[in-house]
Formats: sequence, structure tokens, C-alpha cells
Amino acid sequence: MKLHILGTGTAIPRIERGSSAYLVTTKDVNVLVDVGPAVVRRLLERGGYEVDDVDVVVLTHFHVDHTADLSTFFFACNYGRVPRIKPLTVIGGKGLARFYRGLRAIYPWITPKSYKLTVKRLVNDSIKLFGLTITTVPVNHNPESIAVRLEEKRSITFSGDTGLSPNLVRICEKTDMLVAECAFPERKVKGHLNLASLDKIVQKAKPKRVLLTHLYPDWDDYPGVLHAPYLLAEDGMEIDLPG
Ligand SMILES: [Zn+2]
Ligand SMILES: [Zn+2]
Repeated sequence: MKLHILGTGTAIPRIERGSSAYLVTTKDVNVLVDVGPAVVRRLLERGGYEVDDVDVVVLTHFHVDHTADLSTFFFACNYGRVPRIKPLTVIGGKGLARFYRGLRAIYPWITPKSYKLTVKRLVNDSIKLFGLTITTVPVNHNPESIAVRLEEKRSITFSGDTGLSPNLVRICEKTDMLVAECAFPERKVKGHLNLASLDKIVQKAKPKRVLLTHLYPDWDDYPGVLHAPYLLAEDGMEIDLPG
């Protein structure tokens, strides 16, 4: 299992940090978590992945910094070098079907022409695709917000955007890698975590490693030093979870 960090930023346009998005690759499946602005191009830049290489898209919620390039993604499936044949599954929380219908109403050209699309609402539930178990729980940000755990022999859990959330504690218990939003080192903002609030989750759930992401510019001049299990994410990082 390999984690590719496509972006670690927010809605604030920055050269150093693209919108938060991740690609998880196993020998059987490629899962894209979030599709914010410019993520389709980021896939190419970080390993030469094209939209056809992605089997599953997971949307943690519908905010623009997590979904703006979804239409770009669908459009490229229809009008790329070769029309997509491979099935695609898009997973999200409450209101996913309505969100997708809304996109199609604006961009009718994204309707799949040559491949099967499954739009799957998954909340407090698991699904097994290509040997990978995908589990989601609601978290504390938007009504549709979910945290997502991907599990094979090892596991990676994505918090999505969230404030403190008992569900997040539950889903990231003893996970090998928690990819956690930690929007601010110290500032308290509703619906987001800082180091102190994230640490409460980590103390209870004991993930083995915690990658901090969805980073606001507050982090630019953070003078503190992070200790294990914490690691600050950077765009372009690749992390192997062998086994
Ligand atoms: Zn966000
Ligand atoms: Zn958000």
C-alpha cells in the first residue's frame, strides 16, 4: 500500500501547497481521496497517473477545495486520448446523488459516455472493492462530511475536514497512518482541528503515525518542533506501508 500526497493546502491559493488530496495505490486498486482545484493535473505531476488509472474516488465533503476538479475528472474520462472503459466508483456522504445531479445539470458533458459509473453514498458502513475495505463515518464539519478508512493488510485513515469528533476516534483506532487535518497549529476555528484538539483524538485512538495536512499559512512560521507520531505533510511526499 502506498500513499501519495498530492496536496496539503486549503482554499487559499498557494504555490507550496495545492488543495488537499491523496492517491492510495495497492497492487489491485487506485483510490483518489478528494478532487479539489488542479488535482487532475497533480495526478500527472506526481507519478504520471491519469484519470483512467483511478478506480475509486472518495469525496470527504463537498466544499470547493475538495471537489472543484471532479467535473474536470469526469470530462477527461469522456474526452481524454481514449474514452474511458474501466468502471468508476465515486463514494461520498449524505447528499452525494444530489451533488452529482447538480454537477450534471451544469455540465451535461460529464455524463459517462463509455464506462459504468457507480455513485455510492457510504455512511457508517463498509464496502469491499478490489480487496480493499473502505469504511466511513460522519465527522464534524459539514452535514455530508465523512472520515474514511482504507484497509488491506495495513490501513490508512483520512480525517477529512473536521473538528473534534468521537466518530473520528473510533475509525482511526490503531490505524497504521492517520492523515489528519490540522488546519492550524494553535488557532481555534469551528469545524477544524489544531494540535491540541488533534492530540486528544490521538491519545485515545493511538494511530501509529499521524500526518498533519490541510495546512493554513499559520503553519509557515510555526516555531514548534513536532515529535512522533506526528509528521508535517508536504506536497509530493510518498509513504510506503509495506505488507
Ligand atoms: Zn477544506
Ligand atoms: Zn471543508
